[in-house]
Amino acid sequence: MSTGAPKTLVKTKPRIERPRVLVTGGAGFVGSHLCDFLVARGDYVICMDNFFTGSKENIAHLIGKPNFELIRHDVIEPIFLEVDQIFHLACPASPVHYKWDPIKTAKTSFLGTLNMLGLAKRCRARFLISSTSEVYGDPLQHPQTEAYWGNVNPIGERSCYDEGKRIAETLTMDYYREHGTEVRIIRIFNTYGPRMALDDGRVVSNFVAQALTGKPLTVYGEGTQTRSFQYVSDLINGMITVMESNQIGPFNIGNPGEFTMIELANMVKEVVNPNAEIVFQENTSDDPGRRKPDITKAKTLLGWEPKVPLRDGLKLMVEDFSKRLHVK
Ligand code: NAD
Ligand code: UDP
Ligand code: UDP
Repeated sequence: MSTGAPKTLVKTKPRIERPRVLVTGGAGFVGSHLCDFLVARGDYVICMDNFFTGSKENIAHLIGKPNFELIRHDVIEPIFLEVDQIFHLACPASPVHYKWDPIKTAKTSFLGTLNMLGLAKRCRARFLISSTSEVYGDPLQHPQTEAYWGNVNPIGERSCYDEGKRIAETLTMDYYREHGTEVRIIRIFNTYGPRMALDDGRVVSNFVAQALTGKPLTVYGEGTQTRSFQYVSDLINGMITVMESNQIGPFNIGNPGEFTMIELANMVKEVVNPNAEIVFQENTSDDPGRRKPDITKAKTLLGWEPKVPLRDGLKLMVEDFSKRLHVK
């Protein structure tokens, strides 16, 4: 896949001892795990969030640390900071959340990414966009490689997010070609783990919370649709690997283990509560039929691959969910 050469070459800043790293969406599920990693590594971390789906609890343990700073800010508004790296995650990720105010989701994807690229350009910072497997839509190629251009409905209920991430990738590549901004693109496949919001609405958090509280597991549609589930520590490792590499991407960052929703429900039953029932509910529109990353590119160019199998990852999630749901 040709990405085109930049028109101007930007002089890269020398690597400094303690880089100032901005994490947008840092109080969210993935962002808070990323902040943990970066703070522990000794970077100076600025976490920016508007708390739409993120929460203070996710980062409460970091507040007060000398190398951590929290800013309440909406990324659709410009902001002037001095930073060396930007991990741009700010965007609701659960279909329930991003469909709640689709115009705001589109603004966050477009204006938010534009502002962060403007900031990266001014600071000559390295910029990583957390894109998604949703750019492949309801894929006609299986598994999906990065060279696949996708099959996306531009006018559906999921479009604010899918098309939003596609324009975010486009802007990212145009800042690279037009201004020589150092950019990185990752396409994240379904990721789960501790700190997912209890009302997040995504399938793994729904099933685990339902199984722990003795409620039936809600399988949408016939449950034959597939997803590939990645544990959050594998994603953080992938994000850091891509950011530190000399590769622009895009890179699929996901776990190729593919499961139907019925298989997932049965595994959650086995791990969390064998007595849990399964109920079938009407599916949402434009739900992709199957999803599985081809991760050959990340494996070959970066030596990255996920380590945590679904069964082990589910066990790691149960402790956190039990505590927050006040069960056992
Ligand atoms: P999340 O909803 O837990 O986190 C998103 C964070 O962004 C929240 O803290 C939220 O408050 C913040 N945010 C939203 N809009 C904002 C705005 N306008 N200004 C400032 N902050 C804003 O979701 P997540 O799962 O942690 O996802 C993080 C990123 O990873 C997102 O960009 C998402 O698209 C991407 N991603 C996640 C997955 C996954 O399975 N978790 C898959 C693909 C892509
Ligand atoms: N921007 C920002 N912080 C900065 C630099 C830029 O928020 O430190 C915003 C800026 O307000 C603009 C966007 O990023 O809306 C794109 O900036 P750029 O300089 O690339 O484009 P221009 O301002 O020329 O449209
Ligand atoms: N799903 C389900 N039960 C739920 C929530 C979701 O069966 O309680 C299904 C949903 O229809 C989709 C898959 O699980 O096929 C993944 O949905 P999720 O919202 O987690 O992420 P998506 O990949 O759709 O963004």
